[in-house]
Amino acid sequence: MMDASASDLHAADEIAVSVKNVSMVFGDVHAVDNASFDLPKGKFLTILGPSGSGKTTLLRMIAGFDMPTRGEIFINGQPVSAVPPHKRAIGMVFQKLALFPHMTAAENIAFPLKMRRHDARTIPDKVAHYLELVRLGGYGDRRINELSGGQQQRVAIARALVFEPDLLLLDEPLAALDRKLREEMQLEFRRIQKELGVTTINVTHDQREALVVSDEIVIMNDGEIQQKAAPVGAYRTPANAFVANFIGVTNFVEGKVTELAGQQVTFETNGVALSGRIAGNAEAPDIGVNCSGALRAEQIRISSKDGRLDGLESIVQGRVVDCIFEGERVVYEILVAELGDTLMRVFDHDQESHLQFGPGDDVRLGWNARDMQVFKSDR
Ligand code: ATP
Repeated sequence: MMDASASDLHAADEIAVSVKNVSMVFGDVHAVDNASFDLPKGKFLTILGPSGSGKTTLLRMIAGFDMPTRGEIFINGQPVSAVPPHKRAIGMVFQKLALFPHMTAAENIAFPLKMRRHDARTIPDKVAHYLELVRLGGYGDRRINELSGGQQQRVAIARALVFEPDLLLLDEPLAALDRKLREEMQLEFRRIQKELGVTTINVTHDQREALVVSDEIVIMNDGEIQQKAAPVGAYRTPANAFVANFIGVTNFVEGKVTELAGQQVTFETNGVALSGRIAGNAEAPDIGVNCSGALRAEQIRISSKDGRLDGLESIVQGRVVDCIFEGERVVYEILVAELGDTLMRVFDHDQESHLQFGPGDDVRLGWNARDMQVFKSDR
């Protein structure tokens, strides 16, 4: 008999979806350009990117709706193109839920089982089980139009999962919901996915959603994959300035590289020398080339113009332009003349201090040099 831990290891390594050098060209638009990644079984992957970056096109090819111009996609080792649509074990939830409004929640969930000719005697139990899973036990007899937006979303999830697909595809299913419900449903997706262990690919332009729900994030821009990483990796060690800008609130200081020592970089901006480091997997810029220093809004501390910022290596003077109260934090916009009139955003979460400055006040900003991540600039 196989040792249980060895078989677990094997299952963890098994690749559910493999995208190999896939491109999709519409006329002269490269909607997806040479995309490749592997997704292990049971993982939750989010394809994240701005509007028009190619997310839906990539998802549609994985679903087998569209054929790539080049490359191939494999699900459980089989080319997608070799399996006719009705034989693919893929559950899907889209922004438009396409539930049947004249049917009850239970009838909607039963539908894919009837289509797949499951034994009629087993259907009610399965439907009841999935209603419970999405926390709609007791709502089975309600018609779709008698349910709230969030409840309808749950019906759509149950309907996509009831036939136990190998793969669940989600195309911005939460985009139409209000913020609170959307955040609640993100956690629901995560819970259900963990409970069932179904391999899932989700498409969104919402960076927060990507961080919250995913095991892995693929970040796209202009049809190209910019990075594939776990949420913490994408946030802490972005591969390039695009990723640093797209995830989190990031300040950029443009300059020219003057010194390089391993991962340490010194660059000059407006005559001021700043220190930073090259992020783990980012390409190092050469001495003399233009670079961008990226610094998260939460990594900057603010004090009065003669205040102390003990222990911080990089300190500049600035003037408050705006101060936005967001409840749990204040967002300051600070104009930093000595860095060539760079506008920097700073988060202050300290309830004691966070409303002490207003527009026009002179302040000091400080940060740790290691928090400034330096990327090659394309300018
Ligand atoms: P959004 O977040 O706005 O849905 P997306 O990242 O999903 O955007 P896609 O819908 O994949 O982006 O589109 C990628 C690019 O391909 C866009 O420039 C789009 O205009 C183009 N495109 C998509 N589908 C077609 C099509 N059927 N014919 C021509 N161009 C297309």
